[in-house]
Amino acid sequence: MRPLKALINIDNARKNLSFVRSLAPSSKIMATMKANAYGHGLNYMASAFSEADGFSVLTINEAVELRESGYEKKILLLEGVFDKEDLKIAAAFNFDVVLHNDYQLSLIRQLSSKKKISVHLKVNTGMNRLGFSLNNLPKVHSFLKEDERISEIVLMSHFANADSAKGIESQLSEVKMLRSNYHEPFSVANSAAILNNQDTHLEWIRPGIMLYGANPFDLDDLPGGLLPVMTLRSEIIATQEIKKGDGVGYGSDFRAPNDMRIGIVACGYADGYPRHAPSGTPIFVDGIETQTVGRVSMDMIAVDISSLLNTNIGSSVELWGENLGVDRVARSANTVGYELLCAISSPSRVPVEIYYG
Ligand SMILES: *Cc1c(COP(=O)(O)O)cnc(C)c1O
Repeated sequence: MRPLKALINIDNARKNLSFVRSLAPSSKIMATMKANAYGHGLNYMASAFSEADGFSVLTINEAVELRESGYEKKILLLEGVFDKEDLKIAAAFNFDVVLHNDYQLSLIRQLSSKKKISVHLKVNTGMNRLGFSLNNLPKVHSFLKEDERISEIVLMSHFANADSAKGIESQLSEVKMLRSNYHEPFSVANSAAILNNQDTHLEWIRPGIMLYGANPFDLDDLPGGLLPVMTLRSEIIATQEIKKGDGVGYGSDFRAPNDMRIGIVACGYADGYPRHAPSGTPIFVDGIETQTVGRVSMDMIAVDISSLLNTNIGSSVELWGENLGVDRVARSANTVGYELLCAISSPSRVPVEIYYG
């Protein structure tokens, strides 16, 4: 079997959730599970995060999968329903729905079901992506209040700059103003806000990336208290001795500055490794950190093993994980850990294995 695997540390995932709980002890936790639980496997993570107060997902299929596997707590559709059919299913399966525009409101108003539905009413406080404007909010809120099928209204907003120096001050001041006018539960905090600002720990919080042990900030090192969950592991499948001046890989972009020994790793961009990772991206081979050389191909990467004298076919390689943070690889490739984790290819190419401890 091709040696590439994504190993998922269930204990670390549980510890990350407990850490979130300790940071915001009075908030309920809506664990963010979109994109196949950030590439970690929806069902594995559903069991790892069973202590959360609810799960949020993007698509109706993910939501149905969770419910049908026996999950009984809240399941939130993060962008709400896309059409009438979605809404019928959401009502039948008792999903919470985000409500962010007039079209969704008209669907809810036409719903014939007698079933109650819980709504996360999204307010645009400056992200300018989804949500009702502050001007339109009172009208929508009072429609919902009068509709007896609406069992609960949570006011929800999302920060544009919780991870950067621009910060959340202006959006948070809108939220504080809303709290004095609307006596409903609120949900505003993503991972960066949870870590940076206790004032965002309202009735609900919505951690995502931190639960998976990766960084919401553009930094190499994980904030203390978080542990990596996914280790992407493979092996060396070939070695080459090359001479000073020889090229490696497509385009021969990399030229050996000296005679070198290189190893070929079974992992490429079709597996989710970023094609834009340049030569010099850190990679962990045989327990030692070295660097990639040349362009990433679809199925393979070359690495410098000149000083790893015992490294050979079958030697172990960690693309990222417990010994090499996914954020370091992401930053080298000019992207974020989120993208690398979500891009992990399906299990027919990258089998997922869980482990404990
Ligand atoms: C993805 C998402 C989150 C989680 O964000 P992280 O940065 O991963 O913590 C929270 N809220 C909404 C609306 C999201 O789409």
